[in-house]
Amino acid sequence: RLHDQLQQLRGNIRVMCRVRPSQPGSRDVVTYPLEGLLAVTPPDRRYQEFEFDHVFPPNTDQASVFEEAVASLVRSCADGYNVCIFAYGQTGSGKTHTMQGPPEDPGIYVRALRELFRIASEEDGVAAAAAASAASSAPPSARASISGVPGEEGADAAAEALDAAASAAAATAAAAAARLGRYSFAVSMLEIYNEAVHDLLATGGDVTKALDVSGLGAGELPAGVDRVSGLTWRPVTSTEGVEALLKEGGRNRATASTSLNAHSSRSHALLSVRVTVTQPDGRRVTSMMHLVDLAGSERVDKSEVTGQQLKEAQSINRSLSALGDVISALQRRNAHIPFRNSKLTAVLQDSLCGSSKVLLCCNIAPESNSASESISSLNFASRAA
Ligand code: ADP
Ligand code: MG
Repeated sequence: RLHDQLQQLRGNIRVMCRVRPSQPGSRDVVTYPLEGLLAVTPPDRRYQEFEFDHVFPPNTDQASVFEEAVASLVRSCADGYNVCIFAYGQTGSGKTHTMQGPPEDPGIYVRALRELFRIASEEDGVAAAAAASAASSAPPSARASISGVPGEEGADAAAEALDAAASAAAATAAAAAARLGRYSFAVSMLEIYNEAVHDLLATGGDVTKALDVSGLGAGELPAGVDRVSGLTWRPVTSTEGVEALLKEGGRNRATASTSLNAHSSRSHALLSVRVTVTQPDGRRVTSMMHLVDLAGSERVDKSEVTGQQLKEAQSINRSLSALGDVISALQRRNAHIPFRNSKLTAVLQDSLCGSSKVLLCCNIAPESNSASESISSLNFASRAA
């Protein structure tokens, strides 16, 4: 509990920075002066230092990033908190590697779900152990109660007593399981491109069709109503199931990109997990975890692009600044949080409130030709911190 109170004092927003390995032969401009610090020395410009909750240099593996920055948030989500994790950075800085990763070295998506499954089965395990001890203590007392009764009558009494013992054990097991709650998980995947929401798990539907997002404010939406209407939710029970859904969503994203003539780096991709815990009295408690691979934050020279590229650039700009505004309003505990300024913040508003936990991952490319984009990403992340 003390830990929880300290967390409250520090606020619910954490910022981490992960630097990807540099390309061979390139000159790096990022250094690590002290734990939690990162410095950039761009060519011909002054040295700048940034401080974050976690700084992960290029040699940090997926498991360490997960253990150090993400695992506690997954635990919080299992305990009923809403969680949002964002990967922010220019195209090529490692956002998708951090969130999704290659199949042989998965990132946060698969690790977070694996951890949720582990937590659920651990609690089931505790319930099963309680059941087993109830069952093993039952037979001796059942035997004791029939020891003085001879003949057929005795056998009947024995059967009855054993039945009673067995049902008592079952009741104890059920009570233990119920006390701990029963977990279930469902997943949705969506993409936001040019301020339009697309369902990446739509079956037989058109992925390019835009879904409506409810205009009601956070807390005004009736319980159980999806903010994104018609969004597909698929139950998941295993890591294999999650991997299959990721493949399906990825295929649909590629199809949508082709139809919309867009590159995936110009859209936001959201993997959302709905955690439902059924309580002893049958009430259900729901929490959400949103894992967001944001569109590339690189600045586009607006004098050089027209038409679709200009629209893309404006949409990305708008949603990333809206996200920055929402996070800083949350950090300052402002009464008014400007959720309505973009589709991204509108979709996430129910999970971006006072008690929600937010992790912003700032992804950085270390090469000198990325220095100015890196500094701009680090400034964005510092504003959230
Ligand atoms: P983004 O999604 O930000 O555009 P990617 O995740 O696709 O960037 O990363 C760009 C390239 O760098 C990919 O080839 C990816 O495999 C590689 N990469 C990124 N981060 C790492 C890392 N931490 N370790 C090894 N390779 C990485
Ligand atoms: Mg990417």
